[in-house]
Amino acid sequence: MQYLVSMSNPSTLDAIATLPEPVGGRFPDGAGGGFGGQYVAETLMPAIGELELAWRTARADVSYWAEVDALLADYVGRPSRLYHAARLSADVGCAVYLKREDLNHTGAHKINNCIGQAVLARRMGKTRLIAETGAGQHGVATATVAALFGLPCEIYMGAEDVVRQALNVERMRMLGAQVHAVTSGTRTLKDAMNEALRDWVTNVGDTFYLIGSVAGPHPYPWLVRDLQSVIGRETRVQILAATGRLPDALVACVGGGSNAAGLFAPFVADASVQLVGVEAAGDGVATGRHAATLGAGRVAVLHGSKSYVLVTDDGQIAHAHSISAGLDYPGVGPEHASWMATGRARYIARTDDEALAAVERLARTEGILCALETAHAIAALDEVAEQVGRAGVVIVGLSGRGDKDMVTLAQRRAAAGQGQP
Ligand SMILES: *Cc1c(COP(=O)(O)O)cnc(C)c1O
Repeated sequence: MQYLVSMSNPSTLDAIATLPEPVGGRFPDGAGGGFGGQYVAETLMPAIGELELAWRTARADVSYWAEVDALLADYVGRPSRLYHAARLSADVGCAVYLKREDLNHTGAHKINNCIGQAVLARRMGKTRLIAETGAGQHGVATATVAALFGLPCEIYMGAEDVVRQALNVERMRMLGAQVHAVTSGTRTLKDAMNEALRDWVTNVGDTFYLIGSVAGPHPYPWLVRDLQSVIGRETRVQILAATGRLPDALVACVGGGSNAAGLFAPFVADASVQLVGVEAAGDGVATGRHAATLGAGRVAVLHGSKSYVLVTDDGQIAHAHSISAGLDYPGVGPEHASWMATGRARYIARTDDEALAAVERLARTEGILCALETAHAIAALDEVAEQVGRAGVVIVGLSGRGDKDMVTLAQRRAAAGQGQP
């Protein structure tokens, strides 16, 4: 154990220390104002201050990372593989590597963040976990770590989503979590997040609010990015070992933006590496039924931070739409807004139909059934390959596995006349 700690942790600590801290809780917007911040009720300020201090301390503490790294290795199964997808590469026309977050325990990247926040909660002496969830994936990951740590757990989920995602609700209950169906507003993720914030205000003494993406008030976008940066930190070592050089481009899907931020962050200082985020264009951005927040949103405040938000003509938060429930969020993490504003990353969007075709393409070329969220990144590969050329190297963040989407996929295939009789 001593050996493990001394081998793995100084390097985690050193790598984390190179990632930038948002100055005054804000990421640069290129104009001096900044994205992020802490737009919350006065009553929540002490809790946020306590969390910020706890995070700054833990982040610089080798024993915090020793605990996180050990759980990521033994419980989650890290490091996740970086796989050279040879048949997909040939099909696309450049070298494609897949960072296999789908192989993690619980089937996606979300567990990385939940482990880190649960260890933090325990260090802070918190005895109760709460979380919001849309599709239920973050709820399941939170319920998983709550069971692992023996902590009571309550999950807020829009009433609409409770019906749509019945299987994940059952998973959370099996894991011992209590699921609250939120009936306010549009009865979806944004309302669940409001309700979770309300619970936190009321129970700040013993409760830790475990946010699921790089959203929410500072310090959440910062701490979730740091915890998910394990994806990019591993990728960097793995691609150098495999090819002897840095990749030409990184591609990842963007809902709230945590898997993309985690993959991108350790490469931001490498100007030669293109960063490409892929949002959900739903039925097409022109139809208004989409979740392309960076592509078609406006700068506004949502859930305690300033970033891009989908709004209606009369200034209300718009209803996001995507076939993939995990991308169906009308906001996006403030650091992505910053990367877009400063030109460091670019953001494109792919439709439901393009994502469906990409699921099938990956399944048929590589024998990997990816999540519908992930498929948006796969669907961007042709465009990125064209830019990097035949000798180029592209890495895709394979954020999750597709088991959870089989019902949706089967329905779509049946409707398209592709299903088996
Ligand atoms: C939740 C989820 C996403 C979207 O969340 P981000 O915070 O944008 O990463 C993407 N892929 C999968 C598999 C998910 O479960």
